Amino acid sequence: MLGKLMNKPETWNLLEHWKATIDNNNIAWLYIQTEGKSVNILTHSVMNELAIIIDGLESIINLRGVALLSGKSGGFVYGADVHEFETLTTSKDVANHMRFVHGLFDRLQNISAPTCVGIDGIAVGGGLEIALPFDRLFVTNSNKTKLGFPEVNLGIMPGYGGSGRAYGRVGTKVVLDMMVSGRPIGSKQAIDVGLADEMVDTNDDLAAAMKRWILSCNDVKPIRTQLESEADEIAIADAKDKYLSRVRSDHTPAPFTIIDHVQAFGHDPEAMSAAEINIFPDLMVGNASKSLRRVYYLTDAVRKSSRGDSGIERLHVVGAGTMGGDIAAVGAMAGLNVTVTDMNETAVESAIARAKKLFERRLKLDDKVTAALDRLHPDNKGSGATDADLIIEAVAEKLEVKQSVFKNLESACKNGSILATNTSAIPIENIAEALKSPERLIGLHFFNPVPVLPLVEVIWSKYSDQKIINRGMQFAGLIGKMPIRCKSAPGFLVNRALLPYIFKAIEAVAAGENADLIDESLVDFGMPMGPIELADQIGLDVCLDAGIVLGIPTSARVLLEEKCKSATMGRKSGSGFYVWNGNQANRPRTSQNQSVMAGIAKTMLAPLIEECQKAVDDGVVDTSDNADAGMIFGIGFPSFRGGPLNWAKEQ
Ligand code: NAD
Repeated sequence: MLGKLMNKPETWNLLEHWKATIDNNNIAWLYIQTEGKSVNILTHSVMNELAIIIDGLESIINLRGVALLSGKSGGFVYGADVHEFETLTTSKDVANHMRFVHGLFDRLQNISAPTCVGIDGIAVGGGLEIALPFDRLFVTNSNKTKLGFPEVNLGIMPGYGGSGRAYGRVGTKVVLDMMVSGRPIGSKQAIDVGLADEMVDTNDDLAAAMKRWILSCNDVKPIRTQLESEADEIAIADAKDKYLSRVRSDHTPAPFTIIDHVQAFGHDPEAMSAAEINIFPDLMVGNASKSLRRVYYLTDAVRKSSRGDSGIERLHVVGAGTMGGDIAAVGAMAGLNVTVTDMNETAVESAIARAKKLFERRLKLDDKVTAALDRLHPDNKGSGATDADLIIEAVAEKLEVKQSVFKNLESACKNGSILATNTSAIPIENIAEALKSPERLIGLHFFNPVPVLPLVEVIWSKYSDQKIINRGMQFAGLIGKMPIRCKSAPGFLVNRALLPYIFKAIEAVAAGENADLIDESLVDFGMPMGPIELADQIGLDVCLDAGIVLGIPTSARVLLEEKCKSATMGRKSGSGFYVWNGNQANRPRTSQNQSVMAGIAKTMLAPLIEECQKAVDDGVVDTSDNADAGMIFGIGFPSFRGGPLNWAKEQ
């Protein structure tokens, strides 16, 4: 495909991250292949080498065109190197780095020959921004090809000129959707909205199509006209409604900054790109981005801890209630062969009916829904236990019941299968003691609702075989969950920390404090809901039972007992601390000045922080990072605060 090499600049021979050649049509072919990384990312040294390439391109006489492709299979460019962000500690450092990259991309855009880029696979963040200075964007018709600006998820925005360049191509509405939602778009949509220009079938077709196009330009650089001449105010207002109504600028400033930016420069894409340098640095060195980057690293570490082959293909679930039914469904949705049993046949039937609805919602396509349903087998006799690789028990929370279930399972199951319990509070040791091989039993503590909440606490007891724990972690990863290793100790991690926080709030209400103001203060802090509303959601009887096991202040206990006696047990009985209208608590949303509310939040969160720290000190979790990750994935502790221990450290 590449012809004889012509006047290739000598400096190009020294490149580590790029392959750059000139063919016999005098077309420069650039292949990015970031050395030492499994995928292409724009590290500082990749960018330094790009400068060498551009010097070369600008020196070539009669250059016919420039074509950029990935030199790695399975993706174009995944963006800038997030870890290198940490080396830029001040706004000034960030701005200087941006000026350097803006300079490079402007030079790429100004190359006098026609230029094009071929994208197969992921092109996001800086990976899309490096493509946009090219005259023509080719994409492959692969469902792996995705173009997007996920920066907002890290509390930032495009910073390599991508905002203005993308705006020029796609206009206000699309650019805002891309930058503020952070969601990437596929190749067909990229063509439809004008972000990309031409689609080919596969990666193998890219180079030929790009060459054809360059030659067809006859040395004339195409001129692109801007889609809009000014920002579309209706699209701006819609984006504000859609994206800003549930977030706050003092928590996560990036979406607000992005919308203001497009509004200010919608008449002038070049000015929009250039103005990134005025606003991006403060976002990046700000607290929200620092915390969100921390969550990015935590997520990455958790994912890595669950990588590898669990050897689990067949799952058997005992107990088809709220938890077991959903665990079975999530397993089947992830591709496992699942049998589900219950002593009550109707429980299995309703679990399958619920699973069908879940599959329809998540998988959408009929054939995928049918395939997932085919993998989920009602098993009233419980015969699936015989050849399952993993058996998860989710029956009533009673030690004798669980022990008897496991005794039966142990005699029925094959050698080497893993036994797991979803108990919320019973020590794993106590259940394991009923087994001939107690080392086989681990805890897999899922959170309700299972399809929504990502956390699984993978619990080890003093008997557990660590290899089995590792396989439990891998199983959780396999079904798309975020596992955290925990020691069997009262409340494991999440309930140990969550319940004292809820009880602290109930204690305050018992002392005459305003429940609604407490809840509003925690919502203001960034929690998905306040502790009193959460208690009503969980059920005040369940909270009381858990409190009796884990410990509860007397006044909170007395108040909960009163409420349970009068059958006001929260959402399920129509009233608790609040009157409930279906799933909605009737809450007036009392508000006070910010510092009063911040003070209330701090007081209420104190026991949660203390318990997270104790969980680390007692070895319940391996690290404080895991404690933070567990609370973010388990109870929705606000990501922009980086987890409870991180937040407490920064106070
Ligand atoms: P559930 O009452 O909704 O379901 C339990 C099911 O187990 C019922 O369908 C019942 O018929 C069945 N069952 C009881 N004994 C059985 C037996 N011997 N053999 C077969 N089936 C039997 O309960 P749930 O909320 O799904 O809780 C199940 C387990 O998960 C409990 O240990 C609970 O502590 C734990 N858990 C619950 C939640 C939650 O929010 N509901 C969260 C985490 C963990």
